[in-house]
Amino acid sequence: MLSCKDVSRLLSLSMDQSLPLRKRIEIRIHIWFCKACPNLEKQLLFLRQAARRLDEEALQSDQVKLSAEARERIRKAVRP
Ligand SMILES: [Zn+2]
Repeated sequence: MLSCKDVSRLLSLSMDQSLPLRKRIEIRIHIWFCKACPNLEKQLLFLRQAARRLDEEALQSDQVKLSAEARERIRKAVRP
């Protein structure tokens, strides 16, 4: 069984890369039983959504003039 520390580390990691199915299942089982980790997951998902929204607004804004290359770099960084 994963500890809360393991889960918080893995959840952060999962924001940047996809985890193996086995790890994802272990996380889900932990979150099912844990009182603290569901909140942590919600916060991480909220932050990720907020970051994506900011990214999209910035890319659509006429105020921000970025080269196509820079836009692509940002897109890849946010959505690997
Ligand atoms: Zn936990």
